[in-house]
Amino acid sequence: MSQAVPQPGAAALATPGAVPRILVVDDEQHMCDVCSRTLRRGGYEVVATSEPTEAIRLLRTDQPFDLLLTDIKMPTMSGLELAHLARERDPAIAIIIMTGYASMENLYQSVQRGVADFIFKPFELDQLRLAVDQALQKRALLQDNLRLRTLERLLESSKALSTTLDLSELAGIVLRVTLQQSRCRAGFLLLAENQAALTATVPSAPGGQLLDAGRKLAQRAFEEQQPVAGSKAPFCELEGAALHQALAVPLSAQGYVTGVLVLCDDSPNALRPGVQEEILLLAHHAGAALRNASLYGQLGDAYQRLQELDRLKSEFISIASHELRTPLAIVLGYTMMVRDQSEGERREYLQRVMDNAQRIKDIVDDMVSLRHLETGEAQLALEPLVIQELVSQAIERMRPVIANRLHQLQVDLPPQPLRFLCDREKVLLILGHLLSNAIKFTPDGGRIAIRAALQPNGVLNGAGSCIVQPARAAGDGMPWVVIAIEDSGIGIPEREQPRIFDRFYQVADSLTRDHGGTGLGLALVRELVGALGGALWLRSREGEGSTFTVALPFRQEQATSNSGHEL
Ligand code: ADP
Repeated sequence: MSQAVPQPGAAALATPGAVPRILVVDDEQHMCDVCSRTLRRGGYEVVATSEPTEAIRLLRTDQPFDLLLTDIKMPTMSGLELAHLARERDPAIAIIIMTGYASMENLYQSVQRGVADFIFKPFELDQLRLAVDQALQKRALLQDNLRLRTLERLLESSKALSTTLDLSELAGIVLRVTLQQSRCRAGFLLLAENQAALTATVPSAPGGQLLDAGRKLAQRAFEEQQPVAGSKAPFCELEGAALHQALAVPLSAQGYVTGVLVLCDDSPNALRPGVQEEILLLAHHAGAALRNASLYGQLGDAYQRLQELDRLKSEFISIASHELRTPLAIVLGYTMMVRDQSEGERREYLQRVMDNAQRIKDIVDDMVSLRHLETGEAQLALEPLVIQELVSQAIERMRPVIANRLHQLQVDLPPQPLRFLCDREKVLLILGHLLSNAIKFTPDGGRIAIRAALQPNGVLNGAGSCIVQPARAAGDGMPWVVIAIEDSGIGIPEREQPRIFDRFYQVADSLTRDHGGTGLGLALVRELVGALGGALWLRSREGEGSTFTVALPFRQEQATSNSGHEL
């Protein structure tokens, strides 16, 4: 037999503010009638019966009573026994015993059973009203107390649930805390993979086995997405004995059912409504914790797949660059030879072949440089440089494109030659990529500015967000050579800014505009700046333009020779 369980707050702990419900039990029908009339007039909802067995049935329904008013001595059952049953079902229920035999023995037994209120027959109706009012006030206090204790326990359990993101460890914790809370003998957690079906079953104890009836109950809770209670069927087996009471609760969060918890016992009291409510609240926390754990697991898997992809990318770069280099060198070499021996149109065509082969070579060279920088194989070749010459060289390489695009170029360099030791090829690669991007991503007729200056006191105020942190402590008094390349181009959306330095990453819009490129340039710039011990900043606003600022350490000429240096 199984039935849906009301959701938390609907019934289990009597609802504050609702009309109190009173159960009157007396084998004398006349007493039942008098008490019922009086209490109904007092505004209470009253159910009366002269049959203790009917009273037991009423106490077991889903509609809880706030107060039991019972005669002590009835032919088929003592009022104290009834009180005991009622208290087992609801520890906070108010109980008033009506007695004409106020013997010490009865009083002692009643105190033992936690029955605090008596009313001695015969009594005035006002006395009855007063006793009921007082008992209900006590019940309200007791309920508050119980709620607080429940909250305390729930808080403890929730804390336990947030201690791990490991799915199997969490399943163990969910079972442990729900069993503690419900005092049930056995529990099972059925996990739902991809929401589609209940798959793995985790038992609370190694020997525990969920039987057919238990699985059906779980399946029903899973399909209907609501708790289902069951009784009078063998739901599970524990230490050779079957347990015949069960509660199946779906564990869900954000609309995802992550599993179903099945609690089993052989006493109906273990799963009485008050306990059910606590379990349902706990199930909400458990559902969220399980969902987080499963998301965390998925994230871990996705991360591993990404790492594998990244490894494959690196491998691809390595293989492609290695395999392309030699044939490219041969193509370029022979083409150059035949071009030099040719005239007119033929020579022009061969020049075009060469230009395009050179473009492929540049890409392959970028791949090789990036690979070397990432694996730490790259070497620093320091030599005396003059920043003005380097900037001019980079501009010269781009001059035809700048003219073609009608860009206006501003160059702002120190009047005196600014000499320092650095790696020529690396600095040229940095300037080349930044300048090429500025030209590419600025609409025709835009403005491009290149500034270079010595920052003598070591204080770096890079504009925008820092992409590469300076290797040296900021403000250590050592000078820097600072170069900024600014454009009035399309700019980079803020959310894309950290990503454009990843290998192969291109902002979607720039792809559709057919700017070409491989998405390797900025990844290379970032690695190169880092290898030179420099720093890099980016300031950009969509639709307004971008500024990339590079700071290179100002090394004195006499301090180092120009031989190769390990990075
Ligand atoms: P590529 O230029 O080959 O596409 P990069 O790594 O140099 O690759 O640049 C990555 C992406 O960053 C570009 O595709 C573009 O979307 C964006 N980007 C780089 N520089 C600029 C710039 N100056 N202005 C606007 N967008 C830029």
